[in-house]
Amino acid sequence: MEMTAETLDRIRAALDHALQGGFYHTRFPGIRAGDIHRREEFEQLPFTGKDDLRGAYPLGLAAVPEERILRIHSSSGTTGTPVIIPYTRKDLDDWADMFSRCYRTAGVGPRDRIHITPGYGLWTAGIGFQLGAERLGAMTIPMGPGSTDKQLTMMEDLRSTVLCATSSYALLLAEEIEKRGLRNRICLSRALIGSERWGEKMRARIAAELGVELYDIYGLTEIYGPGIGISCRCACGMHMWTDYLYYEIINPRTGTPVSPGETGELVITTLCKEGAPLIRYRTRDLTRELPGDCPCGLPFPRIDTLIGRSDDMVKVKGTMVYPGRVDELLAGVKDVSSEYQIQIDHLNGRDILNLFFETPLTDKTALKGLEKTVEAAFKEKIGLTPKAMAVAMGELPRSEKKSTRIFDNRY
Ligand code: ZN
Repeated sequence: MEMTAETLDRIRAALDHALQGGFYHTRFPGIRAGDIHRREEFEQLPFTGKDDLRGAYPLGLAAVPEERILRIHSSSGTTGTPVIIPYTRKDLDDWADMFSRCYRTAGVGPRDRIHITPGYGLWTAGIGFQLGAERLGAMTIPMGPGSTDKQLTMMEDLRSTVLCATSSYALLLAEEIEKRGLRNRICLSRALIGSERWGEKMRARIAAELGVELYDIYGLTEIYGPGIGISCRCACGMHMWTDYLYYEIINPRTGTPVSPGETGELVITTLCKEGAPLIRYRTRDLTRELPGDCPCGLPFPRIDTLIGRSDDMVKVKGTMVYPGRVDELLAGVKDVSSEYQIQIDHLNGRDILNLFFETPLTDKTALKGLEKTVEAAFKEKIGLTPKAMAVAMGELPRSEKKSTRIFDNRY
């Protein structure tokens, strides 16, 4: 994003505050905020990564005295030490303000009834949706995850108008509502979906089966939590609340800024966070900046829907393959389901990309034709030719968690 003189001032103030905490005091020896006069100087500062935050476990990230810390949250590390983020009263206030702005951007108001299914507890999901809804002044139904029967009963009896969920749980609820014939007894008009990567086909199914408008909400525990950005009614990328944060998009391999509009890794600096300020934090999320103003009129810049994580992208025969791009291209091919898997192997000195996809078709000739179509579309959109193989619906493994779709067997 653009760095104005005002942004630079705010970055200097944020850096000055961060350096008062032990974490950046140790990480940036000899650096003073007053030394940063230009964007290029700011971009010389080292990045902060998730492993650095892990190293500060349990409370090493705190940049304020303990009496000012009201709450901690912890990110859902699948392995190893968790990351703990301390919040001051102002941090929680700012988060609530940003989140209520998300609701308003999605057309949600005080008369709505907000059904919250993400989990409450150490992680930031459920509690973030709650905080924002309370700031907005809407009624919340703090369900948390699971017990689908109870979810549907409450949704019907309390006439919930807004669903907050992960994409996979929204799909599960949509399918149950369809199966039980509840569609006419459900009052949902909107759904706010957490920012895991999800394809167009899944989006279309959820929207159609629930009969709702969908909004993508962005966030990560390290930077407040969900609610630091959201898509608007124009559904063209997510507006980022740049009065609270500064972002960059970098080449994840070299660490240098990408050209405008090019895909890269999102890096965030917090501008007014007190408890655990972060400077140039590598989110690992891949996206690009969208040019120009949004027709909705919001004065905040937009990033594109996430296309994956920088740890997921792979290089095959010199071409970068992003899972999000594969989702996108398969969504454009008729008779191909949203489920696929890529296996990359190295045989006889050559890289081979095998693409398995599910299809409802069974006729042998039709399957051959479909495989050729998928190969051509892949070549056109990604730039290399895979070996495409059709499999029956339901044959590829499913998981409750975000499923891994690319398997690199070369190393
Ligand atoms: Zn907009």
